[in-house]
Amino acid sequence: MPHTIRQSDLEGYLDEALPAEEMARIEKALREDPQLARQAGVIQSRRNAGLHSLGEIWRASRLSCLSREQLGSYLLGVLPDELADYIKFHIETVGCRCCQANLADLQQEQAEHGEKTETRRRRYFESSAGYLRDGTPE
Ligand SMILES: [Zn+2]
Repeated sequence: MPHTIRQSDLEGYLDEALPAEEMARIEKALREDPQLARQAGVIQSRRNAGLHSLGEIWRASRLSCLSREQLGSYLLGVLPDELADYIKFHIETVGCRCCQANLADLQQEQAEHGEKTETRRRRYFESSAGYLRDGTPE
């Protein structure tokens, strides 16, 4: 197969949420591959029936982008798989600039926070070392 089209690609295609060349690639593949077209049809009808939970999350979430809390939880890896998959898709496949920027910002925040903790710990050790030194008779 010259192209691999995953379920998430079809989801994005059905929502017209992919970059233009991705949309074109999938549209072409759907025309050429009846099995793939059937698969897309199944997704579409499930979504219409409201049975596809990822689709539901997608529809609910794509109206507004992801919240800082959701992105923060995503970085911490504490979200349910479906939502984490959706966020990954939204950011990496759809390439939402807004959420990418938010996520980068949060990543930096978490890194800085980690650094601060490290500095604090070092200071603590330094001061207790200083205390021990001072308290030791010469
Ligand atoms: Zn977004």
